[in-house]
Amino acid sequence: MTSRIHYTKPSITELEVRYATDAAANGWGEKCYDYIHRFEQAFREHLGVEHAIATSSATGALHLGLAALGVGPGAEVILADINWIASAAPITHLGAQPVLVDVLADTWCLDPARVERAITPRTKAILAVHLYGNMCDMDALLAIGQRHGIPVVEDAAEAIGSAWHGKRAGAMGAFGAFSFHGTKTVTTGEGGIFVTRDAALYEKTLTLSNHGRARGQPRQFWPDVVGFKYKMSNIQAALGCAQMERIAELVAAKRRVFLYYQQQLRGLPLKMNPEPAGTANGYWMPTIVVDEGVPFDRAALLAGFKEDAIDGRVFFWPLSETPPFAGAPRQPVAASLSPRALNLPSYHDLTEAEMDRVVARVRRHVRARPE
Ligand SMILES: *Cc1c(COP(=O)(O)O)cnc(C)c1O
Repeated sequence: MTSRIHYTKPSITELEVRYATDAAANGWGEKCYDYIHRFEQAFREHLGVEHAIATSSATGALHLGLAALGVGPGAEVILADINWIASAAPITHLGAQPVLVDVLADTWCLDPARVERAITPRTKAILAVHLYGNMCDMDALLAIGQRHGIPVVEDAAEAIGSAWHGKRAGAMGAFGAFSFHGTKTVTTGEGGIFVTRDAALYEKTLTLSNHGRARGQPRQFWPDVVGFKYKMSNIQAALGCAQMERIAELVAAKRRVFLYYQQQLRGLPLKMNPEPAGTANGYWMPTIVVDEGVPFDRAALLAGFKEDAIDGRVFFWPLSETPPFAGAPRQPVAASLSPRALNLPSYHDLTEAEMDRVVARVRRHVRARPE
């Protein structure tokens, strides 16, 4: 029986176990926030931002941050059509309208020209999601945001280890959100973080994150507004502290996996995650997109993976094709891209022999063009 190749799993060492055990045994009473504060500090330093709030998920971090920016009923938020629904759901929960625009064929991320065309007087934010570690064109998006007075927000849940001209993903927008779900490069089991360089936005978000209780409010249990409860626990943060000590190693492991696939799949008519000059890609998920016009049966490849105990994963669907967004206009690039694409297994300690098994299956289903 061949061993199962999971598409992803966390990298947990004795260090994570030690910290989590300590948090479970001792992290109560006056120590109940120690790992949380340490984790926020480590993340701030890693990213080079002034403020961070650990949360229970990236979805929660986005919900808090968008609420703090004033996104609400009647507002529109622009994001890419190809996305996991977690990026769009908080917009809907706030009573605002997600406006789905097409992506660029090479980055799979927001097309800035289409973003600018989608701006209306109701646009309250532009949500830049760095898909699978690929960077959005932040120069173009930030310039558009500035021109129209609209904040650009980064969903960097998949982009730990990615950077844009020396600035880390998540550190450039009005705020950034990260996920530490068990499938992500850095994990706390479930978890997320809100980050910003904007002190006023931080205060607002902190109040919202604490059931609307402002820091420094002298009265106990006194809410100023109806807020949220999306907190990370001290035990989760303990796992996160260990992961942050290992962040360079965790990102390097993801890059090793990607680069091995890239080298082994060379010559096939497909594209993988791009890393344009001046950027770094954390390669959360090595992804193949078979070239347009090349005969390719994705379902057959996924069935082949299954036969060989390999987990495959389809590329995210265009949200405009899913029931919650019925009626949204179809986006041609997104519609063409998604069915030709899938993610390859990519956990940190995947061996070359395991990757060779994956590559062999891909090669069977994606034929090189005849010379
Ligand atoms: C994983 C992910 C999320 C959601 O993260 P949670 O922590 O599960 O809420 C949001 N956006 C993107 C781009 C993601 O990949």
